[in-house]
Amino acid sequence: MDNLKLAELLFKDIDKTPEYYEERYPQRDLKEGARVTRFAPSPTGFLHFGNLFTCLVSYKTAKSTNGVFYVRVEDTDQKRKVDGAIEVMLKGLSVYGIVPDEGVVSEGEEKGDYAPYYQSARKEIYQAYAKSLVQQGLAYPCFMTPEELDEIRAAQENESIKGIWGKWAKHRDLSLEEIKKNIADGKAWTLRLKSPGSVDGKCFFDDMIKGKIEMPENVQDVVILKSDGIPTYHFAHAVDDHLMRTTHVVRGDEWISSTPIHLQLFKVLGFKPPKYAHVAPIMKEENGGKRKLSKRKDPEAAVTYYAEEGYPSESVNEYMLTLANSNFEDWRRMNKDESLDKFPFNLKKMSVSGALFDMVKLTDVSKNVISKMPAQKVYSLSYEWAKEYNPALAALYEKDAERATAILNIDRENKKPRKDIAKWSDIPDYISYMYGETFVPCYELTGNATPALAVKVLEKYVDLVNLGDSKDEWFERIKGMCESVGCTPNVKEYKQNPEVFDGHVGDVSTVIRVALTGRTNTPDLYAITALLGEETVKQRLNAALDYYKEKA
Ligand code: GLU
Repeated sequence: MDNLKLAELLFKDIDKTPEYYEERYPQRDLKEGARVTRFAPSPTGFLHFGNLFTCLVSYKTAKSTNGVFYVRVEDTDQKRKVDGAIEVMLKGLSVYGIVPDEGVVSEGEEKGDYAPYYQSARKEIYQAYAKSLVQQGLAYPCFMTPEELDEIRAAQENESIKGIWGKWAKHRDLSLEEIKKNIADGKAWTLRLKSPGSVDGKCFFDDMIKGKIEMPENVQDVVILKSDGIPTYHFAHAVDDHLMRTTHVVRGDEWISSTPIHLQLFKVLGFKPPKYAHVAPIMKEENGGKRKLSKRKDPEAAVTYYAEEGYPSESVNEYMLTLANSNFEDWRRMNKDESLDKFPFNLKKMSVSGALFDMVKLTDVSKNVISKMPAQKVYSLSYEWAKEYNPALAALYEKDAERATAILNIDRENKKPRKDIAKWSDIPDYISYMYGETFVPCYELTGNATPALAVKVLEKYVDLVNLGDSKDEWFERIKGMCESVGCTPNVKEYKQNPEVFDGHVGDVSTVIRVALTGRTNTPDLYAITALLGEETVKQRLNAALDYYKEKA
């Protein structure tokens, strides 16, 4: 077989050579140890939480070594292409601080010396390498029809090694004449690798996350170019990650089974293989077992979910790091206020079998993150969220931004801030009693507080309440009225002789709290009273009094 002639026959328009591209895309001039990683999405427009997670791992791998992180769009499957998808995905990433140094930086816009970063624009490059493989006798055209391939698939049902290899690789050794005839007859062809693997050969690699892996060597003559001349994932991965000088391929672990193919391709192409870091999928507990976080079953599988619910990106990032590195939480305990960028991210500390998604944990992490934010930040982030997802909240804020910020500042910016808010969508309920529009009275009492006690307390307090009080004065005033309503200002004293009293200062406060807020548990009642204003306070106390009078 004259391989050179065959290569000309198959790729007559391809005049550039691998040497040309090697020169065109030289080694990167980076410091020792700097890692080059990428995110390589198909433009579906849907960002799965698992994609974001893998992408974060890839990004951190580059950033923690002063390397380069780039985005390459894997758009060879035109059927799956969705307009505007890349913009949606890049925006989704940027919310979490993931901004590529290079590659596709916004829809249709590329940056960097290794362009094009859209696979659909790299057809000639793939073909130049494919042509070179044909010239070396390492790849061949295969004319098998879909029907023939189906037959082989059926015949191989009980075979341990499937695919086109050995006796099934029927077109491996066609003569140039036969090939010419097939082409003249208009038969479609794919280009297959002439696999140099042997059945008892082994493939070894040291995965950065999973450790040492040993698998059977690839023996399949895998398709590298489809009949339309577009590369398969396998071939594009090898050519692109080589030419873009990726040092670490961080990707989902569903690709582990194909890695022997990839390593073989790197070898026949004469490329140095990258290091692999295969990320296990995010799992979810269900009925005592575990399954993958599912786009179909779990709303939290969509990255848009977090924005819609109003989880601040800081919380999600913090949570993702708890999933990513087993030592993150210890680090956080030692470095309470440190920025996440300071965390020494390490691929070796990733879970091998898949981290478990836990909503309760996310909620806790987020409450903690939000509790540390100053009120102004809570206000502005939640206002941005509200404008998009909760216009009613935005309208309340707009009535008086300063008052809204003061409400959000209750029990905040101190040593032990409260942790009531996990996400911005918690805020409407959290502050509802602070606005006439959303206040819903509820006069249920707890502890020793009864309607009869409530009547006594409220009758007194309506006259006593003074919005000019300092916090201490306010509390002294409440304690001061206890005796006159049959209660003690001293909880200890009450506990020693409960039969002597109708209740204690806590019960008196409960009555006032319930009257003013409709709740038995709220942040600082003094601050709430001050922000409600005299008129509302008196009006709510009187309304409650009327209610309890009827009940008592
Ligand atoms: N486009 C592939 C995917 O979305 C990329 C895998 C990779 O990172 O190499 O699964």
